[in-house]
This record gives sequence, C-alpha cells and structure tokens, in this order.
Amino acid sequence: MSDADCIFCKIIAGQVPSERVYEDDAVVAFLDIAPLAPGHTLVVPKHHCVNLLDAPHGALAAIMAAAPTVARAVLKATGAEGFSFVQFNGACAGQVVMHLHFHVVPRRAGDGVSFRWRQGEYQPGEMAALGARLRDALGSEAV
Ligand code: 5GP
Ligand code: ZN
Repeated sequence: MSDADCIFCKIIAGQVPSERVYEDDAVVAFLDIAPLAPGHTLVVPKHHCVNLLDAPHGALAAIMAAAPTVARAVLKATGAEGFSFVQFNGACAGQVVMHLHFHVVPRRAGDGVSFRWRQGEYQPGEMAALGARLRDALGSEAV
C-alpha cells in the first residue's frame, strides 16, 4: 500500500530520486537528504504506515532484520565508531515525514550530535503509580 501524497512512498516508487543503498522485498534504505553526519541513512518499510503503532508486524520484523546489515555498511563506508538508531512517533516527538522510518546516524566520540536526552527523576511514589497505570493500560498483557 502506498500514499499518493507521501514523499517516502514516492521515493520507494522511484518517482522521486534518492541515493538508495539497500533494498529487499519489504524494506529500502537511502541516504538522508539533510544528514546529521555524512552517511546518515533512513531504513524504511515499503508498505506505507505512519509510525510504530500502525505498522504491520511483518514490516517491523523486516526493518529489524535489515537494520544491522545497513548499519554495518554505514560503519564500514564512513569509518564511524558507532551509530544511533532512532525513530520518532508524532510531530511532538520530532517526526516530520509521516511514513515510518528509522535513522541510522554514524557517530564518533565528541561529534556533538545531540538528541537532547535530558533525564529527570521521579518523586517518591510516582514511579510505582505510573507503573500501576501502565500495567492497567496493558490489561491482560501486563506482567
Ligand atoms: P523525521 O520525520 O524522523 O524527523 O525525519 C525525516 C527525515 O527525512 C529528515 O532527517 C529529513 O532530512 C529526511 N528527508 C525528508 N525529505 C527527504 C527527501 O525527499 N529525501 C531524503 N533522502 N530524505 C528526506
Ligand atoms: Zn508513505
């Protein structure tokens, strides 16, 4: 399934050019047009879905199977020491393109790339209360 208004569907269909580096039955990977570092690559399911919540299990499995292959190639081609593997769900979380994709960002010590991961802390009892709410939300799938 594809979405006529979706830039990544157009890239997948070859209607918009991209620097494609990997493809299998369910997944493509191409260079991000505005890289956080050279070699920044996007791993994308061919099936149009917005984010993790509406992605078919098969698409997720295919992405997770392809991602290490793509990441190893990114490391080899760029000489990076590591990589960040990130994905955003919803505009408030930083998602701009509403077709599920995972970023493979090549990383080096001191490269200055930041995802502004500022951690907080729980007040006494707050963590347990949230845990209870989460288990309630999970219903029968809770531990
Ligand atoms: P996100 O939605 O996770 O914030 O990121 C979308 C990413 O897609 C951005 O990093 C952006 O640079 C990239 N992007 C947006 N449009 C295009 C495009 O037309 N071609 C390519 N190769 N990348 C794109
Ligand atoms: Zn799409």
